[in-house]
This record gives sequence, C-alpha cells and structure tokens, in this order.
Amino acid sequence: MKKQCLECQSPVIGRTDKKFCCLDCKSTHHNRKVRLESKWIRSTNKCLMKNRRILRTLLEMGITRVSRNMLESKEFSFSHITSKSLSREGEALHVYEYGYRQSAETEYEIFTSIDEVNSLNQFKSIAPKLGSTKLYEINGKLSI
Ligand SMILES: [Zn+2]
Repeated sequence: MKKQCLECQSPVIGRTDKKFCCLDCKSTHHNRKVRLESKWIRSTNKCLMKNRRILRTLLEMGITRVSRNMLESKEFSFSHITSKSLSREGEALHVYEYGYRQSAETEYEIFTSIDEVNSLNQFKSIAPKLGSTKLYEINGKLSI
C-alpha cells in the first residue's frame, strides 16, 4: 500500500520513513502543530496567571481565608495548579509561589511560599531528623 502525505494525502514517493510529499506540506503540517500546541500552552498559562493574580490580590488585601463561592465568583480555576504538597495541615495546592488548602468544607486558607517556609522551619525545629535538610535548604532560598 502506498503511503499518503500527512498534509495533503498525495502519494509519498521516496524513503520508507518519509511522511510528506514535499517540503511545503512538511512545513505547513509542522506550523499547524506548533500553532495548536502554543494555543494550548497559552490558554493554560492564562488560567495559571489568573489564579496567581487572584491569590496574590486577596493576600495583599490581608485576606487569608476565603469561601469557595468567593473564589468561583472571581473565576478561579480549581483545575489549574503548578504543584501539590502535603504537610501536617493537609494537602496544599500551589499556583507558583502562592497556595491554598481546604480549611473547612467550603473554605480555603491561602498563603504564599514564604509562609510555607516559616511553617517548614517550625516543623523542622520540633521534628526529629528526617533527612529532609535538602528540602529545607531549597525552600530556605525562597525566603531570601
Ligand atoms: Zn503533501
């Protein structure tokens, strides 16, 4: 069976691993792929930046506890985070240097990584050696 060009479906002549009939089809296909990927990355980054801005603004206003309704009213996206962590206070979800954790059924505590470092320091001072010095040092740099 003859191979078809991935872009225009014309027969492909040449090497067995060749995917396109010509260079134009190859670059058109590649450009469309890059455009689609960029669109996806841009829309995800946009959601992350919006979440970050919401958390930062609330903290700047001195608000450290918010209801789910309030976050939803600001169009906070609960499905966009950059990482998760687990501490004695429970699971925290992070959006870059800001984070939040559920503190009641429909309430969240919000914080910055600086607070996380402080609570890690407190934890370190009372916890037995757990071999987590590296983690402490890495997080310690964030407080500078
Ligand atoms: Zn083609």
